[in-house]
Amino acid sequence: AERAAQEGGLRYYSADLEKGLEQRLQLEADLHRALEREEFELFFQPQLNLKTGAIVGVEALLRWRHPEKGLVGPAQFIPMMEECGMMPAVGEWVLRTACAKARGWQDAGLPQVQIAVNMSVQQFRLSGIVNVVKRALQDTGLAPEWLELELTESLILENADRIIQVMHDLKALGVSLSLDDFGTGYSSLAYLQRFPIDRIKIDKSFIRDVAIKTESAALVRAIVAMAHSLGLSTIAEGVENDSQLGYLRKQFCHEMQGFLFSRPLPENELLQLLRDDRKLDLEEDIDAARFT
Ligand code: C2E
Ligand code: MG
Ligand code: MG
Ligand code: MG
Repeated sequence: AERAAQEGGLRYYSADLEKGLEQRLQLEADLHRALEREEFELFFQPQLNLKTGAIVGVEALLRWRHPEKGLVGPAQFIPMMEECGMMPAVGEWVLRTACAKARGWQDAGLPQVQIAVNMSVQQFRLSGIVNVVKRALQDTGLAPEWLELELTESLILENADRIIQVMHDLKALGVSLSLDDFGTGYSSLAYLQRFPIDRIKIDKSFIRDVAIKTESAALVRAIVAMAHSLGLSTIAEGVENDSQLGYLRKQFCHEMQGFLFSRPLPENELLQLLRDDRKLDLEEDIDAARFT
């Protein structure tokens, strides 16, 4: 009986495994078709200056408009795209689309905002990445100072010399570079001096507890202070409430991004915010001159 139960268990297990495999193959096939069928789309999340409250940038975030499942977030398909080598192609689509949108908004006379695009490690490692970025800018007519590329710490930990060279080449094009999810990897701020980075994005895991845990508060304070002393600008991601906002302003963090002001939005809703010149509500208790 025991053996039968075991076999039964094994059968169930392998049936589950097969089902998992089947789902993965289906996902992979769907993803391959998604690009041709134009099922990908970009959402945009505003980035706010903490001195003035104005929208100064937007981050482009990938979404998949699945014919049956509806809107799917990147956590559910980017890992698979990384695995099957699709990220360079999709990443290039994101880059070109984001540049084209930003240029279109400028042409429509909207307040100018910088556009931030996430770069996957795979995409960044491509030998032709500098030309990919250059061509995206040329073909869309977006001036380079309006484009920011978001890199992750895992990237700067790998093959430092080559990566640093690529970063310098990108900087030479005139685009800015930021380090996303800062604090979740293993790089130290001192190490950052070696990289031509313009700003760091403090990961939302630190922002979450910044107003309730002294450890998180101390960490964020140290990150902001050290970044500023290295000449780097700072943006906090995942800001959801006023106490977090208050703390960040007290530390003179430059910018924020988070649900407190807005979730990532479809293009038409973002444009409405820009047209209305919507600003973040700020309390006037802070010495604005100290924002550098
Ligand atoms: P990320 O680059 O760190 O983007 C910020 C994520 O935080 C977004 O999730 C955004 O919706 C979420 N977020 C923003 N404000 C808040 C907040 O106040 N609270 C909370 N809880 N979350 C907030 P999303 O859009 O699901 O993207 C997840 C990740 O997927 C991104 O993290 C990025 O690593 C990756 N990703 C998205 N689009 C692209 C892309 O085009 N290329 C690449 N390579 N990666 C992308
Ligand atoms: Mg990002
Ligand atoms: Mg991030
Ligand atoms: Mg993050």
